[in-house]
Amino acid sequence: MLSAVYRGINKIDIEERDIPEISRDEILLKVKSAAICGTDVKTFFKGHPLFTPPCVLGHEFSGIIDRAGKNISRFKEGERVVCAPYIECGNCDNCKDELGEICVYKSFVEGAFSEYIKIPSKIVEKGTFELDKNISFEAATLIEPLACCINGIQKLKFEVKDKKILVIGGGPMGLLLSLTLKQLGCEPVISEISKERLEFARKLEIEAISPEETNLIDFSKNYTNSRGMDAVIVALAIPQIIEDSFSYVKEGGVVEIFGGLPKDSSLKINPFLIHYKEIDLVGNFGFSSKHFKDAFKIVSNSPELFEKLITQRYELKDIKKAFYDIYEKKGIKAVINF
Ligand SMILES: [Zn+2]
Ligand SMILES: [Zn+2]
Repeated sequence: MLSAVYRGINKIDIEERDIPEISRDEILLKVKSAAICGTDVKTFFKGHPLFTPPCVLGHEFSGIIDRAGKNISRFKEGERVVCAPYIECGNCDNCKDELGEICVYKSFVEGAFSEYIKIPSKIVEKGTFELDKNISFEAATLIEPLACCINGIQKLKFEVKDKKILVIGGGPMGLLLSLTLKQLGCEPVISEISKERLEFARKLEIEAISPEETNLIDFSKNYTNSRGMDAVIVALAIPQIIEDSFSYVKEGGVVEIFGGLPKDSSLKINPFLIHYKEIDLVGNFGFSSKHFKDAFKIVSNSPELFEKLITQRYELKDIKKAFYDIYEKKGIKAVINF
């Protein structure tokens, strides 16, 4: 089988590898579609502490069951499925606190930029779902990033229905967050600099503004009868923007760090706002099996809506070109189709 093997910064090779052997509790998946995530691109251009080369990247994928281990009764060969790229152990202290996303003993798949991958038993058990006929393999790749959005939305600590939420950053994650917020009855507003991305958001009927043309402090006041936004979700990795977000949120509101920042970053925040104004600063990372299941349901209900985010399609052999295109911010979401 062919795999795109990441061999270090700026180096990815298409190599012939053996098809993985599976045990009686595992599944061999023939990958049909694997989306490229910001994390893959970051790893390719800058390296990543979680991915040591040589390895195969890619964690947003769907496919067909090629072989199911003898002990598996829930799935059969030939079924179209989506699988989570990792799942929590369910037993560690973090899992017992219902924080499966930060489980210390997660089971992982190896990487989906490959013709076949082995799905470990824990993921077969809690992170694999059969796709309805109307859900394309491409739409199904959005379930994983959507699961991260659901975790982010739940960390806001209030029901989002009818709330006013500013999402900073109109890239794939900002758009997915906003689409999900809309599905949950909230009216999100995206703040984004790129003209193409503003236009893209508006085509999806999401209100979108440019911070270069609109003063975000004034906007937040005017939009909310002077109270300020209920929450600001920062889907960009810029510390200054997180600091500024405290000026857009209401007393008792929430600022959320949704985009990951480097380990050595720091923020300057006035503690007066946190104590006297009761503004919460929260963060979130990845997803747990319950978020993945919710995301599966949301995409299953309106696959055609989420599919609109997929703007580019590549073959595995052109993966490098895909990484460069995304790095240059061409389009929104790219997938490798097999
Ligand atoms: Zn991702
Ligand atoms: Zn655990």
